[in-house]
Amino acid sequence: MLVFEAKLVGTNEQYGKLDDAIRTARFVRNSCLRYWMDNKDIDKYDLSAYCAVLAASFEFAKNLNSMARQASAERAWSAISRFYDNCKKGKPGKKGYPRFRKEQTHGSVEYKTSGWRLSEDRRCITFSDGFEAGTFKMWGTRDLHFYRQSPTEGDPPAALAHQLKQFKRVRVVRRADGYYVQFCIDQERLEKREPTAHNVGIDVGITLFYTDSDGQTVANPRHLRKSEKSLKRLQRRLSKTKKGSKNRAKFRNKLARKHLKVSRQRKDFAIKTARCVVMSNDLVAYEDLKVRNMVRNRHLAKSISDAAWTQFRTWVEYFGKVFGVVTVAVPPHYTSQNCSNCGKVVKKSLSTRTHTCHHCGHTQDRDWNAARNILERGLRTVGHTGTSTSVDETDQYLSEETPSSKSTRRNRKPKK
Ligand SMILES: [Zn+2]
Repeated sequence: MLVFEAKLVGTNEQYGKLDDAIRTARFVRNSCLRYWMDNKDIDKYDLSAYCAVLAASFEFAKNLNSMARQASAERAWSAISRFYDNCKKGKPGKKGYPRFRKEQTHGSVEYKTSGWRLSEDRRCITFSDGFEAGTFKMWGTRDLHFYRQSPTEGDPPAALAHQLKQFKRVRVVRRADGYYVQFCIDQERLEKREPTAHNVGIDVGITLFYTDSDGQTVANPRHLRKSEKSLKRLQRRLSKTKKGSKNRAKFRNKLARKHLKVSRQRKDFAIKTARCVVMSNDLVAYEDLKVRNMVRNRHLAKSISDAAWTQFRTWVEYFGKVFGVVTVAVPPHYTSQNCSNCGKVVKKSLSTRTHTCHHCGHTQDRDWNAARNILERGLRTVGHTGTSTSVDETDQYLSEETPSSKSTRRNRKPKK
């Protein structure tokens, strides 16, 4: 699924109408959830039928485009089915019982193929359902002409219709700094890339963003650290303001904007770094870290690097699919303890920055040694050495959990 995004430029009155649409979408979702809680054996189709009931009994619900109402019901259903899935799989801990959405700064409403239309030049979008939000200018980096399946010169109306069909969903998103529109296109993105006959293992850290198996390092972006610092400052100032005061509202908005900025910077960094790694390698191996546990860590530096790492990994896997590069998550046990030269275990504490093997005499930077172990393990998991693997196989490896080898299962992680 491809997503193009643009900022919506309109009047305050128009934004207010978008707010109404967003509020109504949330109302439909929450009502569907309530309906499911209060009745037995409700399925997807019951919820979809319930939308008509809501529209008949609430004037404002009728204002929302009927397909947008359906989309809200689908959202409720996806929360419910996720909960069912977690129960069925016997997921440990919380099962994610669906919750009601509260009014928040961010929110969204999803349209499908009706209730909106693009202008001829693709620079404006008009929302035409009962809320009558009207026409907005779109301000963004992506030109929607960019997306074209086949060159269709000389037949503009047909070409336009053809391109419009590709937009399966159009989402209006409200954020701290304004309103955005997202166009979702159902299309697998596959691109060609020359094999480089090079594989890489990646070890992530706190001081350095990562060290790879060739000894190359990527530093943590400094601007991220800086932003995090001012985030903390704003958070402190917000907590000093009076509840319900204008000042508090002002700081809450400031904080929300800062959060947006940080997450955009992080995403930007993740995309650039991930694309670079994927383009220059035929296989990328990294540790399968359980980030959920890591984020709970109270140290700020740690939580920043965790968040950045999760983003990075997502994009590595995405670009891996796009460019047909194998990506493998290997079990993280013993990657820093083993000697990458002879394979024997060399115990060391966290503060030992250099790996010195007393079996074979091999000496290497700790992270570099770990990255080499990760690559070695990754190659063993995939079973291909030095050859580029087809996309189908990549998909297979991405969908399955990486099997942990016997030796790692037998060994317990050493206690600190
Ligand atoms: Zn050794």
